[in-house]
Amino acid sequence: QAVMHWFKRDVRVRDNTALSRASALAKEKGVGVVGVWIMSPQDWEAHLVSPAKCDFELRSVALLQKELAELDIPLYMETVISRKNLPQRLLDLAKEWEIKTIFCNLEYEPDELRREERLVRLGAEQGINFEPCHDDCVVPPGSLKTGAGRQYAVYSPWYRAWVAHLHANPHLLDERPMPEKNPPGFVEKFRTIFDCDVPPAPKSKALDAEQTERFSRLWPAGEAAALDRVSLFLTEKVGGYTATRNFPAKKSTASVSVHHAAGTLAARTSVRMARDVNSTKKLDGGIEGVKGWIGEVAWRDFYRHVLVNWPYICMNKPFKFEYTNIEWEYNNKHFRAWTEGRTGYPIVDAAMRCLNSTAYMHNRLRMITASFLAKHLLLDWRLGEQYFMTHLIDGDFASNNGGWGFSSSTGVDPQPYFRVFNPWLQSEKFDADGEFIRAWVPELRRIEGAGVHNPYAKGGDAEKIAKKEGYPKVVVEHRSARDRCLERYKAGLGRE
Ligand code: FAD
Repeated sequence: QAVMHWFKRDVRVRDNTALSRASALAKEKGVGVVGVWIMSPQDWEAHLVSPAKCDFELRSVALLQKELAELDIPLYMETVISRKNLPQRLLDLAKEWEIKTIFCNLEYEPDELRREERLVRLGAEQGINFEPCHDDCVVPPGSLKTGAGRQYAVYSPWYRAWVAHLHANPHLLDERPMPEKNPPGFVEKFRTIFDCDVPPAPKSKALDAEQTERFSRLWPAGEAAALDRVSLFLTEKVGGYTATRNFPAKKSTASVSVHHAAGTLAARTSVRMARDVNSTKKLDGGIEGVKGWIGEVAWRDFYRHVLVNWPYICMNKPFKFEYTNIEWEYNNKHFRAWTEGRTGYPIVDAAMRCLNSTAYMHNRLRMITASFLAKHLLLDWRLGEQYFMTHLIDGDFASNNGGWGFSSSTGVDPQPYFRVFNPWLQSEKFDADGEFIRAWVPELRRIEGAGVHNPYAKGGDAEKIAKKEGYPKVVVEHRSARDRCLERYKAGLGRE
């Protein structure tokens, strides 16, 4: 009767490997395609998905339903509370609709792989063919090996291999064909499914009315919005990307991580579109900004390849085992000051307040705040990793874990442990005129000049204003925090 495509982190119609293959098989058999999207609140809880991200996904699913309806493809939606019941529920739906094949795109975290493995097994027992496809990475995990046949643990040589692999296999970047319109009569047969409503967010993940309205404006959902964002970036901003990407106030990055995370945009689409505007029509050479941007999207693949090869990073373990023995502080007051943006370090506070308000933080600021938590406050980096996941709209396990590992020096290809960012210098360099700080820390808005980076040290008007407005003093003093960090890391590593 039909072929099923199970939508997960691929909430789009265009350039979707498994959906495209489902459509091709359906055409071959003279049948149609049915889409299924299942909300699993237990999965959202277990993976610490933020309310902003849930809302974004639900809004995107609503738009997906409309896009699919234009192709006469129904999207069946349901909530399955217990995630262990999800595989059998999918198979039951397939049986009810006399479906023999289910397609989906693979997710690479251990829980997801185990679920898919179960589906293959249960499906085989029940006469249903389950076809998971590689789609989430531009280069499928496992494709790139060092000369010794191992997974790369350093980005630069991995990146050179990634580019070479794509130049040798350009089909990996080809756009997957759009699904075909379903055959006549399909709509009538599946009428009830076409009338499905998008389920409401679970209570624990619901936004309030003000946030719902604000996030819809800030983060337009769906694949059309995603393609608009990339196109705009590639026509207007990419030329200056390398020179400006580290300056949060310049808003010079693409802001598409939310789309990559929800799958409203394939990383492949981004890389192909960037390649096509490059003067060389390749991934390297040509326009500096294009090359640089492709290199950033590649980080996303890198961290996924790492995750597939070393899945223990999903189990609260640092990539580098030798960092397991660092003795962290468990200081709730400091953690609260960090989460609330009240550390007395204006750049850290501005970044955290921006995250709390917009569910997003610029990459440079993610590095500064992460380093501050792990090194200045000596708090367990996993507390910060979790806080980011529960607040980011683009929360993504592999990239977030990779970023935290990098910044706390415990991860794959990390910043060396003895490199401790000086937040004031970072602030002076990347927010030189304090525009970002003033936008997010109203207490410091009236401070003119460089005093905004460290008002109490500057004295004079800067100090007076900070005091009057109730801006907090530093929770830890930079130099002693740095010394404590080096001592503690060295002791943990047995390098006293
Ligand atoms: P651009 O600069 O326009 O980059 C384009 C795309 O490349 C991004 O959309 C993203 O998909 C990818 N990308 C860029 N930088 C990185 C990177 N360092 N690692 C992996 N992918 C990258 N990114 C997430 O998508 N989800 C996260 O949960 C996440 N957590 C992070 C936590 C920390 C501590 C750090 C240091 C980084 C984290 N990042 C995360 C990476 C990065 O900060 C964001 O991807 C980026 O800020 C998104 O903004 P953009 O789309 O404008 O990026």
